[in-house]
Parts: sequence; C-alpha cells; structure tokens
Amino acid sequence: MTSIDWAKVRADFPILAQQVNGKPLLYLDNAASSQKPRAVISALVNYYERDNANVHRGLHELSSRATDAFEGARAKVARYLGAESAEEIIFTRGTTEGINLVAATWGAANLKAGDVILLTEMEHHSNLVPWQILAEKTGAKLCFVPVADDGALAFEPALLDGVKLFAFVHVSNSLGTINPAADLCRAARAVGAVTLVDGAQSAGHMPVNVREIGCDFYAFSGHKICAPTGIGALYGRRELLEKMPPWHGGGEMIVSVTYERATYKQPPHKFEAGTPNIAGAVGLGAAIDYIEGIGRQNIFDHDAGLTARAVQHLAEIPGVRVLGPAKRGALAAFHAEWAHPHDLTTFANEHGLALRGGHHCTQPLMRKLKMPGTTRASFYFYNTADEVDRMAEILRAAHRFFA
Ligand code: PLP
Repeated sequence: MTSIDWAKVRADFPILAQQVNGKPLLYLDNAASSQKPRAVISALVNYYERDNANVHRGLHELSSRATDAFEGARAKVARYLGAESAEEIIFTRGTTEGINLVAATWGAANLKAGDVILLTEMEHHSNLVPWQILAEKTGAKLCFVPVADDGALAFEPALLDGVKLFAFVHVSNSLGTINPAADLCRAARAVGAVTLVDGAQSAGHMPVNVREIGCDFYAFSGHKICAPTGIGALYGRRELLEKMPPWHGGGEMIVSVTYERATYKQPPHKFEAGTPNIAGAVGLGAAIDYIEGIGRQNIFDHDAGLTARAVQHLAEIPGVRVLGPAKRGALAAFHAEWAHPHDLTTFANEHGLALRGGHHCTQPLMRKLKMPGTTRASFYFYNTADEVDRMAEILRAAHRFFA
C-alpha cells in the first residue's frame, strides 16, 4: 500500500480538467508525450520572470542565477539516473538527439567496415535510423535480436559474436516489453561491446540506475517525464565521453580558438555547442523533483495496475488482440480486426479519448507482425481506474459501430 493521494496528484495537472468534443478529456497517449504539472509550468514562468539570461559566460547576477539553475538541473539528472557525476550528463533535445550524438561521435570514431552493430527488431526509428546512417558511412553491419511471438526478445549470447555496439530499447513503445537491460548489458560487456539503452519509455516510469544497469549510454526525453519538449539528456560513462570527439562545433564547447583550430572543453560541455535550452533544463529539473516526490516505484506500481486492468478489458472485446508480453510497461497496444487504427482513434477522439493509432515509429516491426499498425493506450500516474473503464466503454461502443 502506498500513501500517495492520487486524486491530489491528478489535480496538479491543469490540462486534464477540460472537455474534448463535449466529453471529459481522457488522455491515454502518454507514451507519445506526458502532461505537465503546475510545478513544472511554474518553474518555467519563474525562470523567465526572474532569472532569464545566457549561461556560463556572463559575469552578472542573472547569468550566474541562470547558470546555477542550468547546472543544478544537470546535477538532478545525474542523481536521478544514478550517474557517478554531473559530468556524465549531456543535455540534448531528447532521446533521438542523444542517440544521434553517440552514433556521430563514438560510432564514427570507433567503428569500421565489417564491425557489427547489434539492435533489436523492436527498435523505435530513433534507435535504428542513426545506426543505418552510420553503417552507410563506415561499412559497419547491422544485426538484430529477433522478437519472439510473445513480444519478448529472443536474445542469446551468440548474437553478440563480433559485436562492437549493442543498442536496445529498455521498454518498447510498440509492444510494452520490458527488456532485461542489466542482463543484456552484462552479456555485452563480457564480449567487450559498448551498450546504449533507449530509455524514452523507462525514464519516467520505473526506477532507473545506469550503474546498476551497467550501460555505457542511456538516452531519454524530458517531455515523456512531465518536462517540456525540446529537452532531454544523454548519460555517457565518463571514460567513453572523454575519448569521444565533439559533435557540433561552436560557442560554449571550446577552450580556445584560432583561425585554424580549436581546443575543446571537457565533457559534458564539449558536446553542448551553442546556447542550450536553459528553460527546458530548468523544467526538466522541476519534473524530476516532482516525480521523485511521488516515487518511481509508486509510479510503476500504479501504472502496472492500470495497464493490467486495460489488458483485461481489451481481451473481452471480440476481435481484439493485445500485443506484447504479460509483464509490460505502462501501455497496451492492440489490433482490432474490425477497424483500422486511424478510424478507431478518430472514433475515440469524438468521445474525448486520446489514443494513438499507427506504426508508432516502428515500421519494420509492424511489417514483421504483418500489421498496418496498432492502436495504443498508454498510461501515466495521473490516470485513474475509472478512466480505464471509460476507455473500455468507448472501445465497446466502437466495436458495436464498426463490426
Ligand atoms: N525511443 C522510444 C522507445 C520512443 O518511444 C520514442 C518516442 O516516442 C523515442 C525513442 C524518441 O523520442 P523523442 O522523439 O522524444 O526523441
């Protein structure tokens, strides 16, 4: 039993108290993006009303306040992920940018023709396309851990033969599968492979500690964990970051510059050229404070209850098949044989219900599953059991309408 007052938590999210198409908003598209509590919105307003200035290079009061807020947020991210120090945290625009950074820097410096990059068949395009681009440039080869019929990874250590980098999603946004990140990283380490974990769907939903996972890189997006869009972070093990070349060049990342060449700062600043998203980082820090106030295990347990309830409801609707294994993250994606996902999500919207229908940025997986796409309900800690029941009612109405 937890002592969290979930109704009070929900009241922190002003956006949820509205009607859509004459019905109370039922927001179940949290895997795409989460809503923001007042604490995060206020942190942004306060920042812009009191502290706004550029960071690092100013010697005036506002600049030093902005710098403290920005670097303070980095320290919070480091603590949140269990990193050894704030120097291991690079601010990015989100998961996609974090992965691209690793591909363009570590990848370009360390991979050559014939090297193997191991991914899985359930990767989001953002943990696939950057490696395709890198493979094209270097001649490295992409291999994939298969997805079994139940939606789990069919991993075996032999797949790691000759692998230089193993990049995999922690929690699948299409299937809900929670991959055994620590086991996969241990196996990769045993063959000397570097690991990258796509944490887009895990960072805000469960306790995450990069040192316990044992990964070399972990990328996530702020907007999926109650923070603003346009901010995220990449954790990189210090030893690797120190050896990596910079990515973007410009101000903030240099020590000294001549017309011919430049010397670079130490990580993380080496990877943060130009004026960063200061307000976004402040918002991310506030989101982390807010989430830690609830507790990530409490969030995981709450979401698991909602998801199990949703799966049970869905299984009772004729012609509906839920994808993914029983032990899952906070989402239920399903195929309804009587309606295309786009028609179903349009029907849901008419009832105030926000679902997502489509390929969820996993086109190769959809092709493998021989589906044009799925419909996905995804949950967060401000959702309620009543909302899950209302979702089921709307989907039963959709079945009567379409079937
Ligand atoms: N990886 C996974 C598993 C995701 O679900 C998403 C977003 O949906 C991403 C990566 C990309 O995140 P972003 O668009 O915030 O960079």
